[in-house]
Amino acid sequence: MDKNLANTVSINRCNSYHLQTVTESLKELFKPWNGIGYFVKPGQKVLLKPNLLAAARPEEAVTTHPIVIKALAMMVREAKGIVYIADSPGTDDPDLVYQKTGMQEVAGETKSTLIRFDHNTNKDYYINSDHGNFKLASTLDQMDLIINVAKLKTHPLTGLTAAVKNTYGCIVGRKKALLHVEHPLPKSFSRLVLDVYLAVKPGLSIIDAVVSMEGVGPRSGNPRHTGLLLASPNAIAVDRIAAEITGFYTEEVPTLTAAKEKGLTGTDLKEITIKGLSLNESKIKNFNKGLAAGGNIGRLVANFPLARFRGWARNRRPYPEIDENKCINCGKCVKDCPAQIIIAGQPIPDIELSSCIRCYCCREFCPEGAIILK
Ligand code: SF4
Ligand code: SF4
Repeated sequence: MDKNLANTVSINRCNSYHLQTVTESLKELFKPWNGIGYFVKPGQKVLLKPNLLAAARPEEAVTTHPIVIKALAMMVREAKGIVYIADSPGTDDPDLVYQKTGMQEVAGETKSTLIRFDHNTNKDYYINSDHGNFKLASTLDQMDLIINVAKLKTHPLTGLTAAVKNTYGCIVGRKKALLHVEHPLPKSFSRLVLDVYLAVKPGLSIIDAVVSMEGVGPRSGNPRHTGLLLASPNAIAVDRIAAEITGFYTEEVPTLTAAKEKGLTGTDLKEITIKGLSLNESKIKNFNKGLAAGGNIGRLVANFPLARFRGWARNRRPYPEIDENKCINCGKCVKDCPAQIIIAGQPIPDIELSSCIRCYCCREFCPEGAIILK
């Protein structure tokens, strides 16, 4: 691919999730590459990989909106590609997730095949910087092209969850949470996430920022209408732009700092060609970055001009606490905490904070939004 096109990020306005609006906006978005046909060739097996973190309704903004997937599936079919849709949710039953997020309906309407990431490949992928390995879902091997369709949300470990982080869903099921035990710190976890992205190699990354999630994402933040779609063949570059327009410093998005460390293209604005809306036109004012700066003290210095202070702030990480008023004692966090340090009890479970690795999986999986961070 031409170097310029590979590092182009296209930004376009998209004001609603009406099918026609989304389709027209996507067509405009793909203009720098002369349409989706630049990526999709006739007869290719194309996997659309949305963010399906949990069994949540589309309007909760936890997951990629089904209309974005529907519009893309129709465009891929028009380009004579064969469409598959898949993701591996954290802990919820995939069938329930597909039904509640609207993916089941979309697959039926677009004659796409909905598949599950149930099995691993035999291949081990090694994590360069931290020694360790991971496997990916075997289905990926059968695809000719992966289109990574992320949701723009905040995340307590990675600052933002957008295109690079979305590829982490290509690790099968619960293993995603268990890897937190091996890589508990934002830096080492983000290196792992980056290596997953490099192994998945999506040919195109799209960010659904029509309605984003600000505040304490990625599960319990606030949906906010931000009216944008972004696309690039380079997920690092599109994340860098997403960070820029939401007001994140690079140091607050450790997947970007990991990419910079590795010398990958896309972390520096000078390396990116922007098409469509300019950075100024796409700025999302007063975006609530939630815990990106890491806890109360961290937040106070997050806007300090020196990068090393922002890095320090990022590492001031809060601890989880269960809100007794919201907890229904369903036991999900007890079952799914990768460090197994949430103990069942009455009226609510108890977290052994001294052993907590602060991976925040409990917060992601709690269906009641009952885990707060302090
Ligand atoms: S997952 Fe949430 S609601 Fe369920 S027991 Fe844990 S804190 Fe309570
Ligand atoms: S209590 Fe929550 S944050 Fe702590 S290790 Fe368990 S899942 Fe991670």
